[in-house]
Amino acid sequence: MKKVLVTGAGGFIGHHLTKFLVERGYWVRGVDVKLPEYEATAAHEFELLDLRRWDNCLTATRGVNEVYALAANMGGIGFIHSHKAEISRDNVLINIHTLDAARVQGVSRLLYTSSACIYPGYLQDKPDVTPLKEEDAYPADPEDGYGWEKLYTERVCRHYTEDYGLETRTVRFHNIFGPLGTYDGGREKSPAAICRKVALAKDEDVIDVWGDGKQTRSYCYIDDCVEGIYRLMRSDFREPLNLGQDRMITIDELVDIVAKVAGKQIEKQHDLSKPQGVRGRNSDNSLLRKVLDWEPIISLEEGLARTYEWIRGELVKTGRIAG
Ligand code: NAD
Repeated sequence: MKKVLVTGAGGFIGHHLTKFLVERGYWVRGVDVKLPEYEATAAHEFELLDLRRWDNCLTATRGVNEVYALAANMGGIGFIHSHKAEISRDNVLINIHTLDAARVQGVSRLLYTSSACIYPGYLQDKPDVTPLKEEDAYPADPEDGYGWEKLYTERVCRHYTEDYGLETRTVRFHNIFGPLGTYDGGREKSPAAICRKVALAKDEDVIDVWGDGKQTRSYCYIDDCVEGIYRLMRSDFREPLNLGQDRMITIDELVDIVAKVAGKQIEKQHDLSKPQGVRGRNSDNSLLRKVLDWEPIISLEEGLARTYEWIRGELVKTGRIAG
């Protein structure tokens, strides 16, 4: 049985990926600084380790053939904008130590989880942007903390392949969302935040929306995300690859879809004092389709319906709304 390590297995994508890999017959060690919040892990072994530390990375990578590196100090746009030093420091330590421990322990393949935040600001300065191709990453002008760290580690992965023969795969996620992800507390992303606000609102209530609502993004449902990760890991493609949907919508449209799912009339109040990130962003999936012979298939409406129901259920469970 192939043994794999999933780092960040207590987090949103890592938890779903662990389940997916166990279902496919892998032996999985999960590592994180915390256990999954909303459901027990499916991992055969789960170790609480701080991966900023070199010794812990050596422990985590022992005896495994492959590493899926998902551990990161991260959050939504509010968190990323206000914690640049912490994010840069923690994630460089986690990623360089994980990569080098994988080399020392003779791991054959490592997947690095990068982000659409590595794409240059100058290509994302209007709502109606051209979808981002992988080659657009340079000349570099990534998001100013989290984005620089991701772009830097992408390069280090490439150097580890070239200099040490460690096979690396690099995926650039575009806004992954779904059930069992953070939906409150400041680290949540826009789909989860909007589902929570709509679930807490009464019919015809007003909810606050960050920015003017015209900023655009594309969103990818978690089941497609783990399928894509797995396909990339099994492929022989060594360059960074986008993984996201290529249907671009405004934040206002996102609110409207969630309101429709919830069956509520919702008014929007735009808060221009809040960070909104880049003005527009979409994924160009040409390379994804070519390399993986596949692309995400779950519609935004379906994904948001499943996510909304889960978040509503959590709010009922914790007594914040009536069942
Ligand atoms: P998440 O925050 O839910 O999961 C990350 C996990 O890493 C958390 O459980 C956290 O506790 C763990 N972690 C943080 N510091 C650690 C440390 N020092 N040692 C061990 N574990 C530590 O985030 P996610 O959405 O599941 O993201 C997974 C990966 O995908 C990350 O690398 C993230 O940057 C990347 N990514 C995610 C998205 C997205 O839309 N969710 C977009 C782009 C990139």
